[in-house]
Amino acid sequence: MPQAAATSAREILTGLHEVMAARGNAQSKLDRVVDLIAEAMTSEVCSIYLLRDNKLELYATHGLRKEAVHVTRLAMGEGLVGAIAEEGRILNLAEAASHPQFVYRPETGEESFHSFAGVPIIRLENPIGVLAVQHADPRRYEEVEIEALQTVAMVLSEMIAAARLVDGARRGRMRSAGPLRLSGLKLVAGMAKGEAVFHQPRVIVEHTVAEDTEAERARVYAAFRRMREQIDTMTKEAEFGTVGEHQEILETYRMFAYDEGWSRRINEAIDSGLTAEAAIERVQQRTRSRMREIDDPLLQERMHDLEDLSNRLLRIVSGRMGTAAQTGLTRDTVLIARNLGPAELLEYDRRRLKAVLLEEGSLTAHMTIVARAMGVPVVGRLADIRHSVNDREVILVDGDNGSVIIRPNRQLTSGFDHRMALSQKRRAQFAAIRQLPASTRDGVPISVMVNAGLAEDAAALELTGGDGIGLFRTEFQFLVSATLPGRERQQRLYTKVLESAGDKPVTFRTLDIGGDKALPYLADAKDEAENPAMGWRALRLSLDRSTLMKAQARALIQASGGRVLRVMFPMISEPWEYEEARSLIEEQLEWARKSKRKLPTRVEYGAMLEVPALAEMLDQLLPRIDFLSIGTNDLTQFLFAADRADPRLAERYDWLSPAILRFLKRVIDAAREAKVPVRLCGEMGGLPLEAMALIGIGAESFSITPAAVGPIKAMVRSLDACAVRQRLDHLLKRPPRNLRKALTDWARRHSVAIT
Ligand code: PEP
Ligand code: MG
Repeated sequence: MPQAAATSAREILTGLHEVMAARGNAQSKLDRVVDLIAEAMTSEVCSIYLLRDNKLELYATHGLRKEAVHVTRLAMGEGLVGAIAEEGRILNLAEAASHPQFVYRPETGEESFHSFAGVPIIRLENPIGVLAVQHADPRRYEEVEIEALQTVAMVLSEMIAAARLVDGARRGRMRSAGPLRLSGLKLVAGMAKGEAVFHQPRVIVEHTVAEDTEAERARVYAAFRRMREQIDTMTKEAEFGTVGEHQEILETYRMFAYDEGWSRRINEAIDSGLTAEAAIERVQQRTRSRMREIDDPLLQERMHDLEDLSNRLLRIVSGRMGTAAQTGLTRDTVLIARNLGPAELLEYDRRRLKAVLLEEGSLTAHMTIVARAMGVPVVGRLADIRHSVNDREVILVDGDNGSVIIRPNRQLTSGFDHRMALSQKRRAQFAAIRQLPASTRDGVPISVMVNAGLAEDAAALELTGGDGIGLFRTEFQFLVSATLPGRERQQRLYTKVLESAGDKPVTFRTLDIGGDKALPYLADAKDEAENPAMGWRALRLSLDRSTLMKAQARALIQASGGRVLRVMFPMISEPWEYEEARSLIEEQLEWARKSKRKLPTRVEYGAMLEVPALAEMLDQLLPRIDFLSIGTNDLTQFLFAADRADPRLAERYDWLSPAILRFLKRVIDAAREAKVPVRLCGEMGGLPLEAMALIGIGAESFSITPAAVGPIKAMVRSLDACAVRQRLDHLLKRPPRNLRKALTDWARRHSVAIT
């Protein structure tokens, strides 16, 4: 802010500070404030309008007729004042009456004034009023005067909120908009109700006027330093996928974090007498209002990045750094975030976390898989959700349809409650089916196992109705722990899992870290690749870091003493990798034998088919393995060359594509010929229509997310395996344009339970 504006703003701020500190009621204070501003800005008129009952009411004026106070009321959008409040923008006019939105209110006596400048008074991003100055001469106000006016408006908002002159600080754009329904991408099904909590809490600026400008400057400098360090660390970690943010976003963060212009503007705002917090917020408000005038979606997106960063800076400066998980959830919560990593999600209290809403998110990202395992509905791709809802507002989440309702009214809530009751009833029906055998109508038995990753999942195995654990993701224990879990800790977990499973089989998958499942404490092993999903992860990393894998092998062997050990390896690209992994386990078995430990009764070795190249080598691989497990999450991302965690590709390719089904059919046929059992363990198998198609290409064994056991068994029990196989043979020979539709129509015609 140029010097003149800073001086004039500081002069007014000092006066305001005194008015705020003085005794007296809110009205008398506002009356003094308008006098003060009019005088400091040598304006004939200064008026304050505040939002009350959704109308902008003239609360105080210097220069207009006093009789108009509390009489003149304008609707949002009405007149110049209404336009400023509704659009949150500044007006600076030499001739007010010639503006198309000008309305004349005779009671104010404003006909004698030509020039007009007004700025919104904003609280928590919502306009709560308007501060306006007027002049008899037809001249535009200088930019520096407008700057000063905005700074004053900010301090006024604090005073207005403190005096409760508007009904709560949350009136305004969002509140006046009433209920809001948004549609996103359904990531995890289920319905829930709760209060909005931001994963990264927003800071409410409480004190705006600085006592000691130099001290505020020092605080901002320190905060900038810390923020830059954090962004640099996050950028490095993102290469290993530890955080929920994408590389591209972090690049933009870096650009803004080091932007000289941004820090200079904050510094200037401090010069005008604001506290560090208020200065950050003030600059953000200005950027926001400028951006609003530019209708460019690309810029709007960048604006979100700057908002994030500004919020981060605010949190650092005010010492409120933790995520909402650290503060703890106190009520039923709908968590709001741009994106989340799986480890971040696991930090939340499962009992209070009812749903998650993301601006990004994709179906097979590990955060989604973890949420599914936790039974927490998730809706993704809700653009702008963080700016459409206020902290603690009620949200109804329909994860079954991928929609949410913010600030519901009574009718909406009761409609939702009704649907939720129906959905619970359906779930109860599925719960009854869960324990029934999964055989098709023509008697083909289908094995339905569950995917698990935590001790709790294994403990709940009986309830899920699964035939066993077809995929135990051992890396989850590593993800939720702050330090590397040693052999003993691993062994304790595996023992617990095997004990809870009783007679049901458990297949352990060796560590699959890297990609979007990274470990902060393995930071020295960072993946330098541009695309970590195709980088040094899973078995690739385990074979190179053999100490890690040896420890895991010993833990698995010892936990399985006296039982069958079923173990499989993730992300095999070539058969030799499988051979090396298998030898490593065998060496550890030898060690256990020599050291006279109780051995597993038998070891069954499995390979995961996730990399398409391996499918070409099945003739070599199949004779060497006891079972094959197809991981469709990774496999399909590689088949389509489409990053499973990229929200922009989340809806682009369909699992029910002829390419995928033909590919899978070849693999299943080859395994059957070699008499090697094959199981599907990706998310695809947990969706009824997809599972139906998989049975149609010969799949008979699935490992799926526990919540899907009921719906999948219901589908299986209503299906004729022979008929669906014939149908798939036909459809894959001559694929229709829309295979999903063709399959849906067929399922409906044959009364297959696909919903
Ligand atoms: C898969 O890739 O399909 C799979 C089951 O493994 P994950 O989702 O853990 O990568
Ligand atoms: Mg995988």
